[in-house]
Amino acid sequence: MFELPQGNLFIAGEWEPGSGAEITSIFPADGTVNRIFHGASREDGLRAIARAKVAQADPAWRQMLPHERAKYLYAIADGIEANCDRIAYIQSRDTGKTLRETALLAKSAAGTFRYFGAVLETSDEALTVQRGGALTMSVHEPLGLVAAITPWNSPIASDAQKVAPALAAGNAVLLKPASWSPLVSLELARIVEEAGLPKGLLSVLPGAGREIGNLLVEHPDIAKVSFTGGTETGRSLALKAAEKLMPVSLELGGKSPTIVFDDADIDVAVAGVMFGVFSSTGQSCIAGARLFVQRSVYDRFIERLVSSTRALAVGHPFDEETQVSCMVHPDHRDSVADFVQMAKQEGATVLCGGEEPRGNKYQGGAYYLPTILADVPNTARICREEVFGPVLVALPFDDEADVIAQSNDNDYGLACGVWTGDMAKAWRIGRAINSGTVWVNTYKQFSISTPFGGEKDSGMGREKGRDGIRAYMAQKSFYFDLTGQPNPWSDAQTGSS
Ligand code: NAD
Repeated sequence: MFELPQGNLFIAGEWEPGSGAEITSIFPADGTVNRIFHGASREDGLRAIARAKVAQADPAWRQMLPHERAKYLYAIADGIEANCDRIAYIQSRDTGKTLRETALLAKSAAGTFRYFGAVLETSDEALTVQRGGALTMSVHEPLGLVAAITPWNSPIASDAQKVAPALAAGNAVLLKPASWSPLVSLELARIVEEAGLPKGLLSVLPGAGREIGNLLVEHPDIAKVSFTGGTETGRSLALKAAEKLMPVSLELGGKSPTIVFDDADIDVAVAGVMFGVFSSTGQSCIAGARLFVQRSVYDRFIERLVSSTRALAVGHPFDEETQVSCMVHPDHRDSVADFVQMAKQEGATVLCGGEEPRGNKYQGGAYYLPTILADVPNTARICREEVFGPVLVALPFDDEADVIAQSNDNDYGLACGVWTGDMAKAWRIGRAINSGTVWVNTYKQFSISTPFGGEKDSGMGREKGRDGIRAYMAQKSFYFDLTGQPNPWSDAQTGSS
C-alpha cells in the first residue's frame, strides 16, 4: 500500500534518529512489526526546545499578521487532504482501526487546520468599554512554547486538535504522540514540512512518557501543556504543572452514561447505543459504556441489543464490512479481558462476548468480542472504572430522578446520550447530568465548531470552537491615555475603577 515513516524524529525541522528508548510499532491485526526505532531522549527534547524557542521568538512568526499565518494552516490542511489515503493507511497500521474510520479522522484533521486558519483570520480583538480617561483594549498574544501530549486512540485527530490552534495562535509546538501509535504523527510532520512551516515551529517527539513527556511538562521554557490521555497521567501532570504555575488543559477518561427511556424509538436507540460503545472497538474516551434502560422496556431492549451486537461484523481493519476491528495492542486486549474477569467476580452476567473471537482470520490479532454485561449494581467497579474497550454494562432505572442520580454517581463526567421522544425531558436530563457533551437521539457526533471537554475526573478546559485558539494565547490589556494630564493621586478622580 503506502510506505510507513522510517522512524526518524522531526526535531525542529530536521529528520534525525532518536537516541531514547526503543519503540516498537506493530500492526495489531496480526502482530507484525511496522517499525522499530529509537524514540526521543531527554537530549533530543532539549535540542528541540532550544530551537523552538529561537523560532518562536522570531518576529517574522510572532508578529506575523493573522491572514498571513493562516496561509500555513490552509497549506497543512491541503497537504492532509491530498494525503488522506496514506494517512488512513498509516494510522490503521499503527492502531488497528478500520480504514473507514481512519479516513474520516484524516479528513477531520484537515478540517481542523482549515477551521483554525479561518478562526485566526476572523477573530477580533476587543476595544473594551471606556470607564475613565483612557482608551482600553484587550488583545491576545502567543504563549510561546506549547507541548502537545496525545494518546494512541485517534492520533491524527487529537494531534490536529492541539497543533492547529497552537500554531494559529503563534506558538511553537512540541508534539509527543503515544508509543503505540507514533507513525501517523511523523507523517503529519512530513506534511507540515512540505507546507513550508518555518523550521523549529513544530517538533514531533515520540518517546516514553517518563522521559520525554516529563521533560516537556517540567521544562521552564514550556508555557503550556495540552494533554489528552488517562486520568491518572493527567492528574500527575497537573501536579507538576502547578509547581511552575503553568496552565494545562486536560482531556481525560470517561465512563459515559447512555440513557434509554421507554418512549424512545427502539431501533434508533439500539443502533445508537451499539455505535456509541462498540465503534472504534470501544477505545474511545466518550464511549457510552454505562447503559441505563427504563425498567418497563429493559428486557425487550436488552434482548434486541444483544442480538444486534452478536450480528456486528468483527474483522480485519482493511475489510470494508468490518464494524468492530482489533484493539490497539495485545497488552490492551488483555487488560480489557481482565476487566471482564473482574466483573464476573463481582457477579456480572455476560450476555454476549466476554472472550476473543475464534477462527483463523483472528490469528495473532488483538481481537475481543463486543461484550454486554448485566446484573451488577452501579456501585460495582465495572460500572465505575474506564475499560477503554468494547464492554458495555447495562442497568435498569425507574424514573428521571433515579437515572440522574445513578448517572452522576461516578467520578467521570465526559459525555452522555439520551434516547427519548420527549425533547423537554431530554433537555431536563441533559442539563442535570454532569458531562461536557450531551447527545440526544444520537451519539459520538462531532463538529470542530462545537467545544469539547469534560467535567470532574474527565478533565478541564475545552478544545475546538472559536475560543479553542484562545486557550493557546495570553490576554493583554492596554490603556492609552486620552487626557494628556499627569496621573492624579486618586483612582476616584479617574473614574476607572
Ligand atoms: P496515557 O495517559 O497512558 O498516555 C497519554 C500520553 O501521555 C501518551 O503520549 C503517553 O506517552 C504520555 N505520558 C505518559 N506518562 C507521562 C508522563 N509522566 N508525563 C508526560 N506524558 C506522559 O493514555 P493512553 O493509554 O495513551 O490513552 C488512553 C486514555 O486517553 C484513556 O483514558 C482515554 O479516555 C483518554 N482519552 C481522552 C480523550 C478526551 O478527549 N477526553 C480522548 C482520547 C483518549
